[in-house]
Amino acid sequence: MASVTLTRVHKRYGHTLAVDGVDLEIPDGSFTVLVGPSGCGKTTTLRMVAGLEEVTTGEIRIGDSVVNDLPAAERDIAMVFQSYALYPHMTVAENIGFGLRLRGTPKHAIAARIDEVAQMLGLGDLLQRKPRQLSGGQRQRVALGRAIARRPAVFLMDEPLSNLDAQLRAQTRAELIRLHRELDATFLYVTHDQVEAMTMGAQVVVMHEGRIQQAAPPEEVYLHPASSFVASFIGNPATNLVPAEVCVNGAGPGLRLAGGVRVALPPRLQPAVGGRQGEEVLLGVRPEHVRLCTDAGTPYRVEMTELLGHQTLVHLRGAGPALVSTVDSRRAPRAGEEVLVAFDTECLNCFEPTSGRNLSSSMQ
Ligand code: ATP
Repeated sequence: MASVTLTRVHKRYGHTLAVDGVDLEIPDGSFTVLVGPSGCGKTTTLRMVAGLEEVTTGEIRIGDSVVNDLPAAERDIAMVFQSYALYPHMTVAENIGFGLRLRGTPKHAIAARIDEVAQMLGLGDLLQRKPRQLSGGQRQRVALGRAIARRPAVFLMDEPLSNLDAQLRAQTRAELIRLHRELDATFLYVTHDQVEAMTMGAQVVVMHEGRIQQAAPPEEVYLHPASSFVASFIGNPATNLVPAEVCVNGAGPGLRLAGGVRVALPPRLQPAVGGRQGEEVLLGVRPEHVRLCTDAGTPYRVEMTELLGHQTLVHLRGAGPALVSTVDSRRAPRAGEEVLVAFDTECLNCFEPTSGRNLSSSMQ
């Protein structure tokens, strides 16, 4: 096991700044997920930790050692990629034991380790098969097995589940969480899929345009996004981001939205936002915090609904800004119905419109 520390890491390809000053602490034994849209620099960051890309400036440490100049083979890491990269002419057992054979591990120790790993991954009955005789999910498990066999200090994974179908992805996600617990190793995992990030990561690192926007536990990223980018990228359906003006009247500090709709500022937001009277902010409201009421609220009309299963998305048009709400499908309204809408104000976030910074982050 080992921690991984990145300090002011930059990577430049010609005129492209792929990674722009990343500072990140990956604690020993943690499951850290780098997530962000295509091109945000997550694969480049992972490849620099692996030693497959040179660092332009900055420092990478694994444990206590600076590894910038250390070849990949000497970094005590194992990588698992989207493509399984198994040796087609070798059996499952030979593929799993390959790294150990290269290192000159004695034969009986290799055999014992192959058995142990096969047991861990449920590959016991497949050890004599060739990769072409396996399903995609089984091949991915063999690739994992090959990585595990060497007992590296750090596992680096780049979208390892993206070739699997939805059901197998969900199953393998759960297996990876279990495996991480069993191996007690440091996992650094790259994905563009926010569901993978939120379900697996103890630390979720959201990247955008080469920079880290937020590195925090998943609950915090969801409930207290550091920026409007994080608020819109994490969560499905996306958070409602609504322009608002800070105003104060007899009822205390509040926000005025399109159509003159007024929202009271919860006490949590008052110190950071209440003093900005007359300024524009961006209000972030998660769809589940847009409540459909019968007694009080702003009048809206249900434009359209989308049944997702136990929840239904409700698209709303009315006196205020257009909104999306998620409601329990058993109580979902129908298209065309008139409803009253109110926000769970305790769960609101306010962002600075130009930088996108969460105005209340410093209060949390
Ligand atoms: P994806 O999810 O699409 O893989 P990513 O977040 O992993 O995206 P990177 O692959 O790290 O993004 O790429 C970051 C930026 O660096 C992109 O603008 C990409 O075009 C650029 N880039 C990556 N590798 C190279 C390279 N070898 N030469 C030039 N530019 C590169």
